[in-house]
Amino acid sequence: MNNFAFSSSEELKQYFRIRVKTLHPDRGGNPEEYLKFLEWYKKALGELQKKESVSILKQYIPKGNSFYKMQEFTIREVALAETVELTLPLREITCPDCKGCGQDLKGAKETCHNCQGKGVLTLLKGNQSLTFPCSFCNGKGVIFKESCSRCMGKGKIKEEERVKVKLPPGLREGDILFIPGSLYNAKWDFYLEVVLKKHPNLTLEKDKLLYELKLPFYEILIKETIAIDTLEGREEIPSRLFTTGGSVVLRGRGPFVKENDSIKRGDLVISLKPVFPEKISAKAKSYLEKAIKYMEGFKNEDPRF
Ligand SMILES: [Zn+2]
Ligand SMILES: [Zn+2]
Repeated sequence: MNNFAFSSSEELKQYFRIRVKTLHPDRGGNPEEYLKFLEWYKKALGELQKKESVSILKQYIPKGNSFYKMQEFTIREVALAETVELTLPLREITCPDCKGCGQDLKGAKETCHNCQGKGVLTLLKGNQSLTFPCSFCNGKGVIFKESCSRCMGKGKIKEEERVKVKLPPGLREGDILFIPGSLYNAKWDFYLEVVLKKHPNLTLEKDKLLYELKLPFYEILIKETIAIDTLEGREEIPSRLFTTGGSVVLRGRGPFVKENDSIKRGDLVISLKPVFPEKISAKAKSYLEKAIKYMEGFKNEDPRF
């Protein structure tokens, strides 16, 4: 028995309901056989359901009809497994430019030598004449020399539509987002290679989100709070958290992380990158030195002394 005999999980479920009636030990079935059947059913159902839902693949191994492209997402969309709108080619239509013939109808052409441009051939049989369209030029009388650039000569183009897709949690850069075509009645499945839009502060890692906080070196001392754009929105973080060095970790505020079958939120790790001026005027320097003298209780912890 294999699960390839079933085209959908619904079909498999129907089969299960019928079979279980005779296989169940309460109905006189063999217990060992019943357990084996249950095990097979669970596995087959899992495989079929995976094929029917949006999922994450680690590499692109197309099966059957497939459509592949690189797809850009924001870090936020991926980290929070949001519902996104994508433009996907859902079906194939006759190319409107060449009307399906695959040739460039506005490009260079020459007279069909088969019918001398008449588009029809005439055959004489006795005193009867028979006229039929020239198959060489399809009755057009001319041969188009270039292929249609819109459909690359195929005569068909893929028609795109906007669709909504709920991203699975745990998606990362370089992963393949698998979208079964059956969800949108397309004749092919979609394999989208995930590319992340560059973000000025954020880097998405496997189990956490890194936030590089670039601030003028004095900001932490002057301000009570520092504004951080977290995944949930702008948030004020107390400045004193940054005075001890190291990173500030907001637990459970990072990306969705998938571990085996459980899903949790990873951490948001904020590391401070103080920005220093390249040059400082003599006046500013002397004021700074004066200011430092006023910092009562600040011990010079320079390890060189
Ligand atoms: Zn065309
Ligand atoms: Zn012809």
